[in-house]
Amino acid sequence: MCVLGLGLIGGSVLRAAVAAGRPAFGYNRSIRGVAEARADGFDADTELPDVLARAADSDALIVLAVPVPALPLMLDHIARYAPGCALTDVTSVKGEVLDLVTAAGLRSRFVGGHPMAGTAHSGWSAGDARLFAGAPWVISVDDGVDQRVWIRVLTLALQCGAVVVPARSDEHDAAAAAISQLPHLLAEALAVTAADVPLAFALAAGSFRDGTRVAGTAPDLVRAMCEANAEQLLPTLDELLDRLTAARGALVRHGSVADLVEEGHAARTRYDSFPRHEIVTIVVGEEDWRDELAAAGRAGGVIRSVLPVRDR
Ligand code: NAD
Repeated sequence: MCVLGLGLIGGSVLRAAVAAGRPAFGYNRSIRGVAEARADGFDADTELPDVLARAADSDALIVLAVPVPALPLMLDHIARYAPGCALTDVTSVKGEVLDLVTAAGLRSRFVGGHPMAGTAHSGWSAGDARLFAGAPWVISVDDGVDQRVWIRVLTLALQCGAVVVPARSDEHDAAAAAISQLPHLLAEALAVTAADVPLAFALAAGSFRDGTRVAGTAPDLVRAMCEANAEQLLPTLDELLDRLTAARGALVRHGSVADLVEEGHAARTRYDSFPRHEIVTIVVGEEDWRDELAAAGRAGGVIRSVLPVRDR
């Protein structure tokens, strides 16, 4: 396996893959990141063409672990030096990545991925082989994805200790807008609003800490994930603003925020009891396997061990 970008996520994937016994190596742009990875005993290099030539020679699965703005350059190099390699990514948005991969002519070898795990820190030193343990890892089941590449990506995610959620890219992005990017924007707004209130930071405890935790993430990464998913984020943001405006109006007119609080509590309670079941019977490669996996993922299904495969 070959990881491009040895930051928090890429560095964690490399560590987890090696811990699972996979031969794996990586590329990082900065000499410092490579030096740190080597000092920890990992196989890393700053020369992208060399790393990709090695990936091509060893038929490695390439994992793109750089932010969205860096993808076009990476994909150009992959198309040039390793066009036959199976390809996945860890990016927080899936639709835009699919478009970029398609534009680079690499779609037939690509299966998108998104491990839903992270911290507010970046760089090689922030990585952890256990980062993905028990975390959901979305794997795309878009029309036409190749079953062999899909199984290779599934195997990697499971070896990293994740539970796999199959989903279409567009559905992933709508969901990610609601449960990832919106919380980031809310955390930023909450932090900046409280910062203007004298004494607020002196009194701040659990609610403030939990509600603003993700505002500690590097601004470039937050911008990259929100801006790349603007199409899905905007309607979700509008809906949230409508709810807050309605709650404000009710507070002014009736002195009550009951509607928002009761609906919110009910929704959160539904989340706490959301059913999760293991997907075991779907055979990868059977007719409609991608649609069946997308439906199972939507209904709360997760994959915990490699699925049966029908070779065509
Ligand atoms: P990071 O800053 O820790 O690492 C980013 C890596 O990309 C570094 O190795 C950096 O050298 C490299 N990079 C950045 N710009 C580059 C460029 N122009 N050319 C070549 N390399 C470049 O960030 P991260 O958190 O590991 O994020 C990487 C990817 O993981 C992003 O696509 C992000 O959407 C995704 N992701 C992040 C989280 C999270 O919580 N941080 C969670 C899931 C997925």
